[in-house]
This record gives sequence, structure tokens and C-alpha cells, in this order.
Amino acid sequence: MLIVMKSDATESDIRRVEEIIEKLGYRPHTMPGAARTAIGVTGNPGAIDPTHFENLPGVADAIRVTKQYKLISKDLRPEKSVIKVGNATIGGNELAIIAGPCAVETVEQVFSAAEAVAKSGAKFFRGGAFKPRTSPYAFQGKGEDGLKILAEVRNQFGLNIVTEAMDERGVDLVEKYGDCIQIGARNMQNFSLLKYVGQTRKPVLLKRGLSATLDEFLLAAEYIMAEGNYDVILCERGIRTFGTHARNTMDLSVVPAVQKLTHLPIIVDPSHGTGRNYMVNPLARAGVAVGADGLIIEVHPCPEEALCDGAQALTLEQYSELYTQVNAIYEILAKEEMAIALA
Ligand code: PEP
Ligand code: MN
Repeated sequence: MLIVMKSDATESDIRRVEEIIEKLGYRPHTMPGAARTAIGVTGNPGAIDPTHFENLPGVADAIRVTKQYKLISKDLRPEKSVIKVGNATIGGNELAIIAGPCAVETVEQVFSAAEAVAKSGAKFFRGGAFKPRTSPYAFQGKGEDGLKILAEVRNQFGLNIVTEAMDERGVDLVEKYGDCIQIGARNMQNFSLLKYVGQTRKPVLLKRGLSATLDEFLLAAEYIMAEGNYDVILCERGIRTFGTHARNTMDLSVVPAVQKLTHLPIIVDPSHGTGRNYMVNPLARAGVAVGADGLIIEVHPCPEEALCDGAQALTLEQYSELYTQVNAIYEILAKEEMAIALA
């Protein structure tokens, strides 16, 4: 059920609806919007009788939701969500660029990348301290020591830190040191982990699973939101297909498909999406052109020495070129949009 409040509904009208939902044993999810507040209801095993709400002061409508999506849906929130990450936002009127190495390796490596990322004008820094590797013998990440280096990057460069957690302990640590918890492709359907990050109050970057359908991807976001954390950013990072020319197949069609259904922002990851240095820039440009809210890009001061994902890492120079190009594309699109809005 979705309860749409009138535009002039008061705080106490909203509180009253929330209380009734709680009394029925369900959970209210209140989403304030530009024109009106909507309250989603979860936890109800069957349909709820709309007469509980219809005649209450401030209530415009009580609508049965038959779709499997409740909280991610545009029915709940027609306008796009702008997610606050540290001191910046994702999903607003600016292209969000998250850049940095695949893995935190050394202080020098991280700081050299961070200097270039900060200089470009980007507001977010990435780097994994917990690495999901195919082989148990491959570099697994520096753990908490790596997170401490990332926290130092925030202090020195003012960049907001996006970093992966693979388990509950990792979530607790990323909450302590980082600004945004990344849930990697391999954990997209780790439902207990999704519930756990849903209980934190840090934004979550949710990467699409290696072979996840659109429904599976969106329902993973729904898991997080159902726990009360509405700050979810989706990320297309390529899916597995029969192609061997690239590490994965970047599914750019998922961007408008996601935008049709949900108010959540979506960014793209052309680094994991292609796995090849020379493909990252063209697919980054394509991602912006298709309407993504941002990009996540792997950058390394010396890609040939990288302990993880060196083949897809950009050099600092390549990154700075990419930054200029994708922002030029973004500006053209923003101008176009403004011209259409004014026409
Ligand atoms: C990463 O961002 O370094 C990573 C491991 O990504 P994914 O989960 O998309 O493979
Ligand atoms: Mn990587």
C-alpha cells in the first residue's frame, strides 16, 4: 500500500498515518517529495484495507501496490532521488565521478591517485580494502589498514570515500572510515548482507550482479530500502555473456530501463564493464551519453604494477583526459535538457 498525502498535509497528519501503520504491525516508509509526501507500507502479508487511511486528515489517496517493487518505485517518489555521500551528492545536477585504484596497496600509490582525482575536480575516491578475488591466493586487500589510508585521503584531499564491504564486520569498518558502502557484484544477492547495510545510515553503492536481471537488481535495492536505508545508488558494471573480447558486456540499456522504474540514481562502471584499458574511455563516454548519473573509474599511478585489475586501470593522464571528455558530454546533455524544458 502507498499512502499519498495532500500537498498541505501537516507533520502531525503524517505522524498519525505512520502510527496507524505501526499499530497494524507494519512498517511505514515516509518519502518526502517536492510536491507531496508519500508513505510506503511494508511488512503486510496481504492487501491492506484502504479505508484505514482514506478519510484521515491530510490523506489524498491510499493506493494498493500490486507490483513487486514498493520503495524503489517512482509511484512512491516521482522525482529523482539525490543521494548525499559525505559532503557531495549523487543523482543531482552534476556528473558524479568516483575514481581511484581497484585496491588500496600502499600509501604512495593511493595518495598519488588521490592527488590526480582531487585535481580533476572529482568529489569521490574509490579503493578496495577488502577485495573479492576469484583465487584465494590472490591479493585480498589490506583490510582495516587500507581503510585508515582512505580516511587519510578524505582528510587531506576532501574526497568522499567509496569502498567495498564483503561481510558484516567489513560494513562496520566501512561505516567507521568511509562515506559510502560498496556492495560488490558478487554480493548483490547476499540477502543477509543487504539487510545489514539496510540498517546502517551510510549510503550504499549497489553493483549489479554478474548475471542479474533487471528485476533481481532492483529487488536487491528494495531489500536495502525495506530496512529503512533509502540512500541507494545503483551501478551497472557489466554482465557475463558469450563475448570474449571484453571482460564483461556493459549493458547500457539497463540505464534507461532503471530510470523508467525507479527514482534511484544509476552510475556505470566501464572499468569492470570492459576490463580493458583502451575500452574504458569510449564506454565511459557512452555511459554519460545514455544518461547515467555518474561513473566509477579505476585509476592507478602505475597500472603495470597494480596488484589487482591492472589491465583495466587508467593512467593518471588517461584519467584526466577522460574527466574532461565526459564532462563535456554531460554539459551538452544538460544544455539540451534545459532548452527542451524552456521550449
Ligand atoms: C571493484 O569495484 O573493485 C569490484 C570488485 O567490482 P565488482 O564487484 O563490480 O566486480
Ligand atoms: Mn577492480
